[in-house]
Amino acid sequence: MEKPIAVIAFGGNAILDKGDDGSFETQLEKAKTACREMLSILHKGYDICLVHGNGPQVGNLLIQFEKARDIIPVPPLDVAVASSQGLLGHMLEVSMRSVLAEDNMEKDVACILTQVVVDSEDPSFKNPTKPIGPFFTKKDAECLMEKQGWKMVEDAGRGWRRVVASPEPKKIVEADSILNLLDNEFIVIACGGGGIPVVRDYGNKGCYKGVAAVIDKDMGGELLAEDCGADVLFLLTAVEHVAINFGKPDEKWLDSLTPDEARKYIGEGHFAPGSMLPKVEAAVEFAESAPGRSALITLLEKAKDGVAGKTGTAIHQ
Ligand code: ADP
Ligand code: MG
Repeated sequence: MEKPIAVIAFGGNAILDKGDDGSFETQLEKAKTACREMLSILHKGYDICLVHGNGPQVGNLLIQFEKARDIIPVPPLDVAVASSQGLLGHMLEVSMRSVLAEDNMEKDVACILTQVVVDSEDPSFKNPTKPIGPFFTKKDAECLMEKQGWKMVEDAGRGWRRVVASPEPKKIVEADSILNLLDNEFIVIACGGGGIPVVRDYGNKGCYKGVAAVIDKDMGGELLAEDCGADVLFLLTAVEHVAINFGKPDEKWLDSLTPDEARKYIGEGHFAPGSMLPKVEAAVEFAESAPGRSALITLLEKAKDGVAGKTGTAIHQ
């Protein structure tokens, strides 16, 4: 019988976080730790597909590009996302192969550079809100807004920052390739950073072209989980549970939620946009996409216990 499939999304912070030294050695060590956790889900009987976030990594790339602007042309944002898929995919593949060897397991690993189609009419293009990349002085920001046509905002006294659209992912271009690899029992790394955003180019036979946007990795992961007929969607992050009244004296951590309950809490504004909100939205969408599907939001290091229903916030019908 075919094994159930688990799609496992986790934050780029799991590999590179604020207090870290930022070196690739440290990132690789943390990637190995993450892969051990992923492997423990595989040991519970699942085929696994990993979706990594890329916030800190793509942020660093954008700083590097900006610092070298005078000597090397700055690539467009879709190329930065693609570069982050390459660097994280490589680190995760190396790490996964090494932890497989620790467990004496013969299993293949493949990373798929993944493009995700978005609608060029998505409302977020008219009102971009996702801050990315370096902070600039007001003077430099004014120059960039004029010369590059960027939209920029002042970020809580820390400086000026570019904001881009975070459109809804519509279609994974390489979905069939990913499915094929899962069918052949590969461990797959795909849809990194939510996917490289592309739109249809009607001037060129409807082929795809990159677009300046970033896709939320929880939403990209959800689409991927639906496409590959996954049974479970893990959304692994820095908190063990989802809370209502988060950070307030009457904070309450939740063990399980139905999609209806989650929607009610979303309406009451319990989840921060851009962080917990997309996770809960992705979980609801997945839980409702077919009978028997469930999503689990929990800590990376608790994922394997979550399979047994011992930790985290489960969202199912
Ligand atoms: P990731 O990089 O894993 O996507 P994010 O920082 O985007 O992580 O989102 C997870 C964070 O959301 C948690 O670490 C927590 O600080 C924050 N958060 C916001 N609202 C809530 C909530 N209602 N319950 C739990 N955590 C919340
Ligand atoms: Mg996030």
